[in-house]
This record gives sequence, structure tokens and C-alpha cells, in this order.
Amino acid sequence: MKTVYALDAVTRAPEPIAPEPIAAAEIAARTARVAAIASAHAEAVDRDGRFPQEAMDALKAERLLSIMVPAELDGGGASVGQVLDICYALGRSCASTAMIFAMHQIKAACLIRHAAHEPWHAGFLRRVAAQQLLLASSTTEGQGGGDVRSSAAPVSQGEDGRIRLERDATVMSYGAQADAIVTTARRDDEAAASDQVLVVLEKAAYTLTPTLAWETLGMRGTCSAGFALKAEGAQAQVLSEPYAVIHAQTMTPTAHLLWSGVWAGIAASATDRAQKFLRKAARKAGGQLPPGAPHYTRATTALRTLQGLIHEGLAEYEARAGDPQALTHVDFQTRITLLKVEVSELAVSAVMSAMRACGLSGYRNDGDASIGRLLRDVLSAPIMINNDRILANLGASALLSEVPQSLGGFGLAR
Ligand SMILES: Cc1cc2nc3c(=O)[nH]c(=O)nc-3n(C[C@H](O)[C@H](O)[C@H](O)COP(=O)(O)OP(=O)(O)OC[C@H]3O[C@@H](n4cnc5c(N)ncnc54)[C@H](O)[C@@H]3O)c2cc1C
Repeated sequence: MKTVYALDAVTRAPEPIAPEPIAAAEIAARTARVAAIASAHAEAVDRDGRFPQEAMDALKAERLLSIMVPAELDGGGASVGQVLDICYALGRSCASTAMIFAMHQIKAACLIRHAAHEPWHAGFLRRVAAQQLLLASSTTEGQGGGDVRSSAAPVSQGEDGRIRLERDATVMSYGAQADAIVTTARRDDEAAASDQVLVVLEKAAYTLTPTLAWETLGMRGTCSAGFALKAEGAQAQVLSEPYAVIHAQTMTPTAHLLWSGVWAGIAASATDRAQKFLRKAARKAGGQLPPGAPHYTRATTALRTLQGLIHEGLAEYEARAGDPQALTHVDFQTRITLLKVEVSELAVSAVMSAMRACGLSGYRNDGDASIGRLLRDVLSAPIMINNDRILANLGASALLSEVPQSLGGFGLAR
């Protein structure tokens, strides 16, 4: 991006003007255009289990892949809250598109917060903006499942000064379509499994050999297949900050918030369908509501609760965003981790309620009130980092958290 100068009066030398973030209304308008395209292709993407290429082309054309990159690095300068709303809007249209967008932004957030001051990464973020590069995420490895804080493959140093990484990436969404992969790895050959780094790998310097297909119930368009990843690069592509820090300060909060946005969007889409169905049915029956109608009330209640939970999680994150210690505080970590568990389960229950509100019309696959695709997509939420694993891991820290002494009405700390 060119630097713009303000020519001030006669006396002063020109001063550079910092580039402005994109206005919220403009982001909303761009999002609406992409959402319309994602919606039009959502059925085909799900049916064929194919990558949502049309929606991805639209995201790139609207420059939404770099929406969170700072304006100084030629991006849109959007906040996590604004990106969360994009995830919600896309989740209402096509869950796979929304999840791909969310995963890309989570990786972008890690690079922005922890590496934008490093020359290689600043250059890379500029290229993300200029070329609208799509970033995939690789954390799942071998049989390790959702144990994100443990890696098997190390970053190896070659005698030529280059780094090399060979990884059994058992689940990597849109790995084949991405322009770069951001992956966890063991720091070096000697490091313990939990001594991890985050590495950016560029498409020109890696190969992906397919190992596992993605024939799943839902989220079919994410194309989350398995690959043997073989890559090389420069040492500068490894972020200097240890992954443990990145994980606590950025990866967990942004993943849990943005995924929540996607799942709430799916729940909203189901509730929307149920509302249309019930209104139409009531009109036809002279105002008489079908027997499933109370389930609609449950769906809307769940949706409102989801909105409240996510809003509170975002507010807590934003309040701490400038303070690394506050971000890693055990209370915040526990709450932002549990947000994922709560939202994922409530979103499933909202979609189930919407389906029951629509009765057979919701159960069918071939009508306007069909909930099938939404239900299949949202069922991925509790297993996308399995809730059981999360709850088991949180057992000890949950014990350390105080039981709330008040509900806030007396002005005491909650
Ligand atoms: C739509 C989708 C997209 C994905 N995209 C990516 C991606 O792009 N990149 C990537 O790296 N990964 C991706 N993943 C994989 C994801 O990160 C997790 O690895 C995966 O969801 C783990 O699922 P799992 O149920 O096999 O969990 P695991 O963690 O392997 O658990 C397996 C089973 O063991 C139980 N379990 C595990 N640990 C414990 C414990 N401590 N206590 C109690 N029970 C336990 C669980 O309940 C579960 O039943 C994706 C997953 C989904 C659903």
C-alpha cells in the first residue's frame, strides 16, 4: 500500500497518515455479498462434499481474507468482534465456508499478534493481503486427536541452514486448496512433545500426499482430509514466540470465539427456517400453531443464550487483549475454554429444537424447512476438539476456580 501524505499548510513538511481500518458498514456490506453466494451453493457443496470455491472466490474478491491484518500491513484492520460477526453471517449461509473462513482467521490472528514485528512474517502478512492467501491449520497429528498441546514431528535443521518438517497431518481442512499451512511442531529433534513452535509453510515448498479421505456426516465442504506433509523453509518462518504462549493468548480465545460464531450462525439458520415454517403453517391453519411450535420457543431461547455467552466471551477477551498476563489468567482460560463446550452443545440443541418445531418438514431433505444439513454440520461442534477431552483437561483448574459469591448485584467481584 502506498503511504498517503497530508500536505499541511505552507510551513510543515508532509506527515504520513496511518492507513485507516475498513469501516464496519463496509465490512457488513462485503460480508452480505459473500454470504449470498455461499448460500446459493451450500446445498451442492454439502451434497458433493466439495470445497466451496464460489464462496472462496467471493471472499478473496471482497478482500475478506486479510480483513484482520493491520491496515499498516495492507489489511482491513478489523477487530476480532467484527470477524466474529462475519463468521456468524457465513454460518447462516454455508457452515463449511464459515468454518474455513474462521480457521483461516484464527491462524492470521496468531501471526498478527505474535509475529507481525518479525520481518519475514510482516512480509508474509502483506502477501496474505496482496494475494488473498488462504491459510490452513495443522494441529492434529497421527493418532493424537485433539491434543493440540503435544506434537510428534520436530522442526529439523538441515546442514544447508534450511528447516525441514515431515508430519502425519491426519485431519487438515482444505489442505489441498490452501496457499500456506500454519502448523504446530516440536521445536527441534531433542525437544519434548509439549515444547512446540508454530511454523508457516508455503505451498511452493511443501508436498501433501493424501492419506485419509473426508467422507463425513457434515462440514463436508471443509474437505478435512489427511495428508503426509513434507516441507522445508527458512528458519525465519518459525515464530519466535513459543507455541505455549500463542496457544493461551491467541489460539484458544480466537478459535473458541470464531468457532462459536460459526455454530451460532448454523443455529440461527435453523431457527430462521423453523420460524418461516411455523408462520406459513399458522397462516394456512387460520392462526392455529402446529404441535411442534413450543420447540421453536426453545430454539429461540437457545439462540439468545448463545448470543449472550459469545458476547460475554468476546467482551472478556477484548478487556484482556492488551494484557498478556490477564489473558493467561487461570479464570479467563477456564472460561474461554468452557465457552467452546457450552456453545457447541447449545448450538446442537438449538438446531434439534428447530427440527422438532418443523416436524416431518424439518426431517425431510427436500423442502424449504429441511434442517438435515444444518444438523449434520452442527454435530461436528462437540467433537471439533472433543468436549470430553476439554472437560477432562479442565478438571484440576476448574477445582481451583472460586464458586461465585454473588451475581453482581451487590457490586462485588463475580
Ligand atoms: C470439521 C472439522 C474440521 C477439522 N479441521 C482440522 C484442521 O483443519 N486441522 C487439524 O489439525 N485438525 C482439524 N480437525 C480435528 C480436530 O482438531 C480434532 O483433532 C478432532 O476433532 C479430535 O476428535 P476426536 O473425537 O477423535 O477426539 P480425540 O481428542 O482424539 O478423542 C477421541 C476420543 O477419546 C476421548 N478422549 C480423548 N481425550 C480424552 C480425555 N483426556 N478424557 C476423556 N476422554 C478423552 C474423546 O471423548 C473421544 O471420544 C477438525 C475436526 C473437525 C470435526
